[in-house]
Amino acid sequence: MTGDSSRSYTSLTQQETSGYVGFANLPNQVHRKSVKKGFEFTLMVAGESGLGKSTLINSLFQTDLYPDRVIPPAADRINRTVQIESSTVEIEERGVKLRLTVVDTPGFGDAIDNTDSFQQIIKYIDDQFERYLKDESGLNRKNIIDNRVHCCYYFISPYGHGLKPLDIDFMRKLSNKVSVVPVIAKADCLTKKEIAALKIRILDEIAENGIKIYSLPDCDSDEDEEYKTQVQQLKESIPFAVIGANAMVEIAGKKVRGRQYPWGIVDIENADHCDFIKLRTMLITHMQDLQEVTHDLHYENFRSQRLTSTSQLPNVGGGATTPGGTLDATEQKLLEKDAELRRMQEMLARMQEQMKQQSTTNLAANY
Ligand code: GDP
Repeated sequence: MTGDSSRSYTSLTQQETSGYVGFANLPNQVHRKSVKKGFEFTLMVAGESGLGKSTLINSLFQTDLYPDRVIPPAADRINRTVQIESSTVEIEERGVKLRLTVVDTPGFGDAIDNTDSFQQIIKYIDDQFERYLKDESGLNRKNIIDNRVHCCYYFISPYGHGLKPLDIDFMRKLSNKVSVVPVIAKADCLTKKEIAALKIRILDEIAENGIKIYSLPDCDSDEDEEYKTQVQQLKESIPFAVIGANAMVEIAGKKVRGRQYPWGIVDIENADHCDFIKLRTMLITHMQDLQEVTHDLHYENFRSQRLTSTSQLPNVGGGATTPGGTLDATEQKLLEKDAELRRMQEMLARMQEQMKQQSTTNLAANY
């Protein structure tokens, strides 16, 4: 299937219980901005089929988003993903709203030729940019719903000796369009040593092949020490080695999300067992940065390529066809004017903000 099918749309208010996501705990400055605007965030998962993508996203968000929900057995719910499926939930924590969309993509690897599933995924990302571009140039630009993909967890097999040629090819393509976060899947089948070695190998291969994965920004010097340490630990954990589980198992009288084996239990939220919590923390604490990278880098690339390709078309005046449809010369001029106008508005807003700050500083100095 090419389009996306919305599976669910839920709205719920979260209590500060065990099912607390924690995005309201963002550093204060970020928090203040987000209270005003609210978050719209889209997370995509991609990678070979059967690596536990659907399981992990369920583990990531279901625990937290539906703390009271009865979870049916995994086998009833997990069907092989054969099409791009998006699910949206709205959650609210301490007055901060988050509209989270998770995009599950068809796993590749089953077919001899994977071009089709690659293209479908890339097309999905481009379509969301295209939609945003159209909305931005429309009349209702203040109320745009942002469906652009802000982050993509790329699942890597734990069984191989690093990245496969398929991974390299696809990660390279993806990383030009979206912030890619590499993830080692099913880390329960590797020992600690093996995980450490595989992480090094993957990072080397990423660097050798010039793949630009998402890099966590450096902290401001005035950020508190605890936050700085946390970011440092997150940086050192990439690629995150994760384990997914939808079953609840009991450890010392406490129900945890885990996997029960004949020799013991894997508690996916235990930092000694895997990087599941780190992966979630990274997402939550860097949502805003991921949004900014999407807007300033990936979307800006798309927009400028789009404008260039339109202006280079030989028969623009005659209704040339572009990836997004038909655009005549007037429409294209309008788009360019709009972009220009937006840049000027942004500049004006920045100048006003600077002037406001200066006058506050001057006032403070006078007293
Ligand atoms: P997808 O095709 O990538 O979406 O993979 P699924 O989420 O459908 O999972 C495929 C199979 O792997 C299922 O039987 C899951 O129960 C199992 N699975 C999922 N996550 C893990 C994990 O972390 N470790 C292990 N050992 N198995 C897992």
